[in-house]
Amino acid sequence: MRQTKTRKKLLALLTSARRPISVADLLSHLSVNKTTVYRQLDSLVKAGQVTEVRFSDRKVRYELASLPHHHHLVCTACDSVRDIDLPDDIESIASKFPNRDGFVIQNHYLEFFGLCAKCSRHE
Ligand SMILES: [Zn+2]
Ligand SMILES: [Zn+2]
Repeated sequence: MRQTKTRKKLLALLTSARRPISVADLLSHLSVNKTTVYRQLDSLVKAGQVTEVRFSDRKVRYELASLPHHHHLVCTACDSVRDIDLPDDIESIASKFPNRDGFVIQNHYLEFFGLCAKCSRHE
């Protein structure tokens, strides 16, 4: 019962976040312990409802698997992450990228690292 409730709450949080969120972020909105959150996330990942997102900081973040194709802006100062869409012409270049040795490209990941508006003002 409690498990189902946590699961629903997690999916609701991921839906409203509009960016990949960490376990610490999720925990701040939930009244359950870390183990429960990890267990539920793990089962949501296995069920194909949630995707793990990892940037070079190695902190795992989670987002809904059902989101349309998009990319991320990662702030290297405050660790914040934002979802962005790339223009269609860039997306089509990525999918038409010359394939070597018959390699068929099915998907790609492209993340941008820099400073968010808030952090770049402080520099
Ligand atoms: Zn920042
Ligand atoms: Zn893309």
